[in-house]
Amino acid sequence: MQTTVIHASRILTPEEEISDGIIVVEGSRIAGLGHRDTISVPAGAIDYVAAGMTVVPGFVDVHIHGAGGHDVMEGSTRALDRITSLLARHGTTSLVATTVTAPVEETRRSLEGIARYVRAHENADEVRPESRPQAEIVGIHLEGPFLSKARRGVHPPEALARPSIETLDKFVEAADGLVRILTVAPELPDAMKMIAHAAARKIVVALGHTDADYDQARAAIEAGARHSVHFYNAMRAFSHRDPGIVGAILTDPEVTTEVIADLVHVAGPAIQVLLGAKGFDTVLLASDGIAATGMADGRYRLGNFEVTVKEGIAQNSEGKLAGSTLTLDRAVRNVMALGVSLKDAVRMATILPARRIGLAGKKGLIAEGADADLVVLTPEMRVAGVMTRGAGLA
Ligand SMILES: [Zn+2]
Repeated sequence: MQTTVIHASRILTPEEEISDGIIVVEGSRIAGLGHRDTISVPAGAIDYVAAGMTVVPGFVDVHIHGAGGHDVMEGSTRALDRITSLLARHGTTSLVATTVTAPVEETRRSLEGIARYVRAHENADEVRPESRPQAEIVGIHLEGPFLSKARRGVHPPEALARPSIETLDKFVEAADGLVRILTVAPELPDAMKMIAHAAARKIVVALGHTDADYDQARAAIEAGARHSVHFYNAMRAFSHRDPGIVGAILTDPEVTTEVIADLVHVAGPAIQVLLGAKGFDTVLLASDGIAATGMADGRYRLGNFEVTVKEGIAQNSEGKLAGSTLTLDRAVRNVMALGVSLKDAVRMATILPARRIGLAGKKGLIAEGADADLVVLTPEMRVAGVMTRGAGLA
């Protein structure tokens, strides 16, 4: 097995900061880390010197539809290879492939394609340091079809559906059990039954695209919902006499939420309000990125409809925001510009999302035994190098 030794001015695990640190990578895993005086460097290892740099865990994106000109719903090896390669260049080493609302049969075909790809890569040949870094698809996020018509955003109205355990089970089966997150509007008929069913199957139930009032949102949390997608966006707005879903999420420490920190979907001060209310343990950075991510302005597909991207802002034909072109490296820089510390910004993009989807100890942290998913950041927080499960940084 090949061993790589990474020397960095600073390592953020992210819970701990190690200066003048060393990370030892064996194969696809981290074999050791610590201050350079405490770690014995194995003979014959490849050295990677990140002088003046900070090494952090690879970013974990729990809400992403595509990148590099492709949408995850294409489900082909070519599309998913392109998406995972492009995202790795921006420091994202794990992602939850996210569908948009589409007819049931079409969604099933997409899920089968994604599942086939994930299963084929699970038993991939041993990674080598000189291999190309590629993000890992660690699950599937179903964003739709069980969403509110009133808060559907760009999800096609004709394909929205009432919550149905039967339909959900079809999706879970097509996805070969890889569904990790289900977004649902809890005020819809039969939503509570479906939420309980999904939660019992260890699917993270996320509230989103919803017009739920406070009591409906509370009932959903009681039924097992623990997460919410793109906070503020496609949600009933907060009012002091009608706190709604926003009030329910802000006041429950068990419920995590994503925020799209591109400073287009949500204004900076609104992100500060969110963090002020919820603190730094339950707010995750997610991109909601679409095919246009990493590409020039132009026309792209999102699921089965068209989106126009101008100056990096994606909109449908009605001018509604249609996902983003955000990458998590930029999201980290954006929240730091709002006053969030490097440590908290990195936690929001790494260990917190990894924990939410049940990958604590494996993803989103630098620790012995964890996957060797690493990002080398310049002092300006630009990505200078990426390792995905031991590949890259040679
Ligand atoms: Zn959405």
